[in-house]
Amino acid sequence: MAEPNESVCPYCGVGCGIRYDADRESAVGWKGPVNQKGELCPKGAAAWDVVDHEERLTTPLVRVNGTLVEATWEEAFDRIEREFDRIVTDHGPDSVFFFTSASCTNEENYLLQKTARKLGTNNVDSCARLCHASTVAAMRNRFGAGAMTNSLEDLMEADVFLVTGANPAEQHPVIFRSYVLPALKSGAKLIHVDPRENATTKAADIHLPVKPGFDIPVLNAMAAVIVEEGLVDEAFVAERTTGFDGLRAYLSELDVDEEAERAGVDPEDLRAAARAYGEAGRAAIFTGMGMSQHHCGTDNVHTLINLPLLTGNVGKAGTGVNPLRGQNNVQGTGDVGGLPNALPGYRDVTDADARAAAAEVWGFEPPETPGLTEVEATHRFGDEVRAAYVFGEDPAMTEPNTNYVRAQFEKLDFCVVHDIFPTETSNYADVILPGSVWAEKSGTVTNTDRQVIRMRQNVAPPGNARTDLDILREFAARVAGLESPETPEGVFDELCAVAPIYAGMSYEGIGTGSQRWPFPEGATEGTTFLHADRFENGSKTASLRVIEHVDPADPVEDDELVLTTGRVLQHFNSGALSRRSGVLMRMRGEDVLQIHPDDAAARGIEDGARVRIENERGTVTVAAEVTPAIRRGTVFTTFHYADPLVNKLTGNALDPTAKIPEYKHSAVRVTVEPDT
Ligand code: SF4
Repeated sequence: MAEPNESVCPYCGVGCGIRYDADRESAVGWKGPVNQKGELCPKGAAAWDVVDHEERLTTPLVRVNGTLVEATWEEAFDRIEREFDRIVTDHGPDSVFFFTSASCTNEENYLLQKTARKLGTNNVDSCARLCHASTVAAMRNRFGAGAMTNSLEDLMEADVFLVTGANPAEQHPVIFRSYVLPALKSGAKLIHVDPRENATTKAADIHLPVKPGFDIPVLNAMAAVIVEEGLVDEAFVAERTTGFDGLRAYLSELDVDEEAERAGVDPEDLRAAARAYGEAGRAAIFTGMGMSQHHCGTDNVHTLINLPLLTGNVGKAGTGVNPLRGQNNVQGTGDVGGLPNALPGYRDVTDADARAAAAEVWGFEPPETPGLTEVEATHRFGDEVRAAYVFGEDPAMTEPNTNYVRAQFEKLDFCVVHDIFPTETSNYADVILPGSVWAEKSGTVTNTDRQVIRMRQNVAPPGNARTDLDILREFAARVAGLESPETPEGVFDELCAVAPIYAGMSYEGIGTGSQRWPFPEGATEGTTFLHADRFENGSKTASLRVIEHVDPADPVEDDELVLTTGRVLQHFNSGALSRRSGVLMRMRGEDVLQIHPDDAAARGIEDGARVRIENERGTVTVAAEVTPAIRRGTVFTTFHYADPLVNKLTGNALDPTAKIPEYKHSAVRVTVEPDT
């Protein structure tokens, strides 16, 4: 471990190559398969700050008489083994729930889901449920694969980018800088659909500032313009789609002006956006959590998918539907079976052939009943769920309605938190296991455009902390009697034997580059864009669908505003890493609430004033930023900070298909904080 080794940034799903600098005081980029010039954004450049941070967990902790005390690994695992054995014996295997981790490796997540299934439950899920579960559900349903249809390289051939509910200039900055901006400089156009003007909007030709929760009217109206103005690719529609007549009949009845007005956007801007998309030789879609995190998130994406199917913009370079994934391995966590309904390679647990194929490699057959999703499980703590293993996630901070979630955690009989720092969730742990950060482990992650990239260990974990794979191997042996391969490469080889989309991959083949799925046995290279001749489900055609708008779950009273949440460049998700970086905290130390000047004036709120945001679920206070960047009637803040913990305000409504929460629309009252 003396030499700097190529690893992968622990933050976002772009998957930039990083390693420690020779001075061991910073992270630097290497020329990875995505950041091909070695470039990093501020988060990647600050990734070393978390490696030797003073708050790292360095020894196991067990709760004794209500207090967490230091313990040996033997004592910690004895307690875990005893409690899991008792709870499974008394209540059955479905009484335990496993949180896999979108910020940990494929190998680690693969072992944890296999442990759950050996124990006899499919109760395994990750925070992918909270970000793109609805995108994956709609794309799997229509196309047969729930991932970016295209590769970053071929997207540079796009003439038009339609970016819906995403802000890649801040949230996926290396993609934006290295793949989108060069295309824009060569003449491509950018359409941005987002309630807020942000860094991506600055590069946009057309901005549609949609009301949160009203994406379906915008997308249906765009489709109506495309049909009305003869921009349909008739040959593609005839050869590769079904359902056109039904959709055309529905769209012909829509009043585009009314739909635009309902969604709060200018009808002429909407028409211009539809024409730009429909007339493009190659039009590519990027979609994000502004689309997916609604109780109609799956329908939002279904409506979006109509656009490329109407215009022939799928199955070729520079096109497609491309979800920008959040954490560095959120794609891989699903790929390797960290899902309650799918085995590695997205093979349904209800499929007897899939279970038999897994059993051939595993030596046992996984259970056939789909498990609980992440939020469903939390809502059943203390009821049918009695124990949880929380690996590298912080649901007491990241799930909606956190006052409720925290009360639910109090109801568990037993909770293990396996992490690198104390978290909001570790307050409820009976045992805490200290794991490893990016520089201390080896394995692979799968980035947003399906590239599997290797991480290599740079340094040893601190103190008594162990590598995550080492901890999970012992956990599997203790609670499920499961023997696991000793090395990350051995685990990866087993994963490739179970997951058909990874079948031809190897550590040697990936090297310091990548292999992109689908990569079947015998393949020499991965598939850049999917669905060229057939969709991934084997069908020649995909259906066009009629989707109707449904109102957001939270009704908004006259004196209320709509709270929508998101991310900024300097921080990441729960902030567990980025808030521990001195550099990033100097760049953005506090949160703010963006509020439109008219809404601020109506409430006597001045720029910089402390304001109270509240609803029946909770109250938080934060400084106001009075700005026309946010649309009237909507306020925006981030979910990066433990204070203000904005998820106190978000609600329990779930998408009925994907079970993703409606984070992006909460009714709130905003007033000047009386004590200021
Ligand atoms: Fe890390 Fe994402 Fe920034 Fe790349 S773009 S350095 S992966 S946070």
